[in-house]
Amino acid sequence: MARRDASGPGPRPDVLVVGGGLIGLLIARELALAGVRVEVVDDRQEGAASPNAAGMIAPIAESIADQAFARISIRSRDLWRHLAPALEQESGMSIDYDDSGSLLPVLDPEGREVLDGIKARALGLGEAARDLDPTELRELVPDLRPGIEEALLLPGEHRVDNRLAATAAAAALRHRKVVLHRATVERVAEAPRHVVASGDGFERAAGAVVVCGGAWTPRVHGLPALPIVPVKGQMIAFDGIDWPFTGAIRTPAFYAVRRAGGRLLIGASVEHAGFDLSLTDEVSADLATGAAAVLPALKDREPVEHWAGLRPGTPDPWPIVGRLSERLHVATGHFRNGILLAPLTARMIPPLVLDQQPDDPWLSIPEVMLPYRFTAAERLSS
Ligand SMILES: Cc1cc2nc3c(=O)[nH]c(=O)nc-3n(C[C@H](O)[C@H](O)[C@H](O)COP(=O)(O)OP(=O)(O)OC[C@H]3O[C@@H](n4cnc5c(N)ncnc54)[C@H](O)[C@@H]3O)c2cc1C
Repeated sequence: MARRDASGPGPRPDVLVVGGGLIGLLIARELALAGVRVEVVDDRQEGAASPNAAGMIAPIAESIADQAFARISIRSRDLWRHLAPALEQESGMSIDYDDSGSLLPVLDPEGREVLDGIKARALGLGEAARDLDPTELRELVPDLRPGIEEALLLPGEHRVDNRLAATAAAAALRHRKVVLHRATVERVAEAPRHVVASGDGFERAAGAVVVCGGAWTPRVHGLPALPIVPVKGQMIAFDGIDWPFTGAIRTPAFYAVRRAGGRLLIGASVEHAGFDLSLTDEVSADLATGAAAVLPALKDREPVEHWAGLRPGTPDPWPIVGRLSERLHVATGHFRNGILLAPLTARMIPPLVLDQQPDDPWLSIPEVMLPYRFTAAERLSS
């Protein structure tokens, strides 16, 4: 990225996107595709969520009991099917997109009941859900603990290497000559015909600004109070996994997500620790022990990586997407579903910024996502 590209190399952009996580990058891509002159500014926070996530695109397992959330998630998953090959083609790199599904093993009799409920809900939403018999299950994941004989397969749940996806999205933007600045925006100030974003030696005026700063969004001065809090997640990874099943295994205690090259990601803790990113042996050991109880082969391995990221949390399950004032917009607060919801969120922004009626009803931002839905108390408690 161009460091402190203060005045910018060319004419004022129509839109400046503040925050180059997956949400901001895909929004910039959609705006560029719509013919909008767009630039991105990002300060590469170490704990940014997008490069530190697990990359599950899990519309059923992640939307327990909320039909509206499930339907929106399914729509975004559908968009991923097209986005993944497009990003690979535009960037010239693989993003390790995998559509083999999520596998939910039955660990005990209560687990069977819960999975029957998930299966019924999936089928009710028109999504596939299939019980695996012991032979199929062993073939897919031979390392499962003896005694685990059944599992539910959700073939409509996908996964992507989120690090590669963000890198590919940035490469696709560069390919389209979209300028990516590197700086921290400390404030935004709206004037009658433009917005100025500035800070850290950077200043850029744009026709409109979309703030996609993840957990750091409330630090930008000039925005109304938004109740976004960082929710830390620690993860670990093992190497040398070669089961035929290349999707995600989900249990109530942990998830295990494959990557190309034999890596297996285990996650994740959920910690309210402010912006602290410290890694603790206790969490690493808990994740490793929990996973080894179901996948005993992990017992003899040492994690090859341990990291933490900050999910942008809101007081409810929904992200915050929409207009803040005439030329200021926001798209953040996707908590644990930002990889899943990124394509749909990105498609919602061009009609908003261009003041156009969306041609697809799914692109009308639902009220549950709008920024001004929170009470004053909720906004203050962030
Ligand atoms: C451990 C973990 C596991 C997860 N697993 C999944 C999963 O399996 N599936 C899923 O769908 N989601 C998952 N998530 C959630 C998902 O990662 C997030 O919801 C999503 O990445 C949020 O993207 P974002 O672009 O809004 O924020 P981020 O990725 O955090 O990006 C924000 C960017 O804005 C920049 N920025 C912030 N403020 C400023 C500023 N003032 N000026 C300039 N730049 C700024 C930061 O440097 C950063 O690059 C997980 C998250 C974590 C932490």
